[in-house]
Amino acid sequence: MKLRYDRREFMGLAAASAAGILMRPLLVESRTVAAARTLQGADADLVVFNAKVHTMDSGAPRAEAFAIHAGRFIAVGSTAEIKGLIGKRTQTLDAKQMTIVPGFIDCHNHAGGTTLLYEVLVGNPFEVEFVTIASIVEKLRAKARQTPRGFWVEGYFHDDTKLKDKRPLNVHDLDQVSTEHPVVVRHRGGHTSFYHSKALELARVNKDTPDPPGGTFDRDANGQLNGRVTDRARNVFNGVGQRPSFTAEQRDRRERDGLAHISKQFVRYGLTSVHHEGGDLAALQEVRARGNLHHRVSYEVSGRVLDSMISSGIMTGFGDEWIKLGATSEHTVDGSFSERTMALSIPYPGVQPPYKGNVTETQEELNAWVERVHRAGIQVNCHANGDVAIDMYLTAFERAQKSFPRADARPKITHCTLINNDLVRRMKALGAVPAMFTTYAYYNSDKFPFYGEELMKRCMAFRTLLDAGIHAAAGSDFSPGPFAPLMGIQGMVTRTGWDGTTWGANQRITVDEAIKVNTINGAYASREESLKGSITAGKLADFVVLADDPHTVRQEKIKDIQIVRTVVGGATVYQA
Ligand SMILES: [Zn+2]
Repeated sequence: MKLRYDRREFMGLAAASAAGILMRPLLVESRTVAAARTLQGADADLVVFNAKVHTMDSGAPRAEAFAIHAGRFIAVGSTAEIKGLIGKRTQTLDAKQMTIVPGFIDCHNHAGGTTLLYEVLVGNPFEVEFVTIASIVEKLRAKARQTPRGFWVEGYFHDDTKLKDKRPLNVHDLDQVSTEHPVVVRHRGGHTSFYHSKALELARVNKDTPDPPGGTFDRDANGQLNGRVTDRARNVFNGVGQRPSFTAEQRDRRERDGLAHISKQFVRYGLTSVHHEGGDLAALQEVRARGNLHHRVSYEVSGRVLDSMISSGIMTGFGDEWIKLGATSEHTVDGSFSERTMALSIPYPGVQPPYKGNVTETQEELNAWVERVHRAGIQVNCHANGDVAIDMYLTAFERAQKSFPRADARPKITHCTLINNDLVRRMKALGAVPAMFTTYAYYNSDKFPFYGEELMKRCMAFRTLLDAGIHAAAGSDFSPGPFAPLMGIQGMVTRTGWDGTTWGANQRITVDEAIKVNTINGAYASREESLKGSITAGKLADFVVLADDPHTVRQEKIKDIQIVRTVVGGATVYQA
């Protein structure tokens, strides 16, 4: 055995010797651990045994037990073998035949804890729940009563297909909230908002206002504004009405409280790593320093932070195991799947006049942005839902790679919803990593009729992409989608929604594949596959204990499996 080897070789060694693990678990100790033992005579910190472990390590997919030291798995194997590592100071956990999988990884999340904590929520962020338009109006009226005149009254987490009324929210409903405040209800998808008459009037929008590029002011059958405004048309509201201002201290506190709050929610659902779309980087570090960050963060940058990374030569991968600079945050190329504004090559079925969705950037702008980021050694990430937008992004990346070739660049495609064979071939050639909607198959089945079965066969195409050898990963897109990984896994396996309808059954994947999408493939997306994503000696000890095995429960019950315990770096961060 070589005495020195680099990390990549070491992980290869771990995988290669996995078959022999049952006999000689100590062989796969990391060098750090081996050194710690010699220096301190250290025992394992924690030994978990009598479990059904699905490791997601293809070299040794099943195990019964593992040992942890200094936050990492040091040995994985049978109960009898691993129990041999129990020393005087070792804590033990008898899993009583419960199932253990690696900690779940969500590769696209707007981890907006402040909205959850401080704003009016007119829909359920986490689960399928139907509400009435009257309840939305009532919540906003209550908010208006506490809000000074002229200030915005805003509702969040609206879902247009989760209304008991079975008709869309409109301008007249919202006119009942207040005549003294601008009023808006934001769709949880983030691409459409619903305004009342006063807000439209303040923004000088009337029925004759033309649609700007990349957005629409929607109208009813009589040509009158119905209050729904899509994508970039919403920009006219930015300078309208008053919004609360906070002192720097108040703002910092809100950010910290929001992050601490959402971190608790993540681990409650078994997430141990989350890719954050921006958010306050300083607050994130503060929350960690105070011991309130329970999950690991791949921080995805935009704006000022991206500019300063480029100007100071900081690349993707900077940081540590808890907070690391990841890809950029999603650079938006088109509209939304759930709100039916994504850019399609054919018109939306049944929509008149014919509508193909919104492209929100020109090819030239996109080329320039992609090239600038790629040259700087930062992992590029674009939001591309429709086939038109994915094509534009791949075109921009192919061009950037030609001018500035970078091996293993892993361009990230956020959503990557509607694919075709040509796009898949080009993705494979570029080594692209898609982070696709997870919970939609279950949560948003009520929106699939807008696309129809023919398109749904090519939407959220996990089967096609895995078969092509592409590392498809999970991207809940919270707040647009709930983030519960088990709800996502159930949807990937069944393609059946909450309403019992099944769409694009050709894209079903197995339970094991769906767990991989939510673990090791997520680690790959952030270039951390040698650090996490499977229960493998040498990797970070992030795992989830489940009350039932998703492989054996009835598939429509996967989402209801109880998360018994979530462990990050060997420490329990959630316990039922
Ligand atoms: Zn997003």
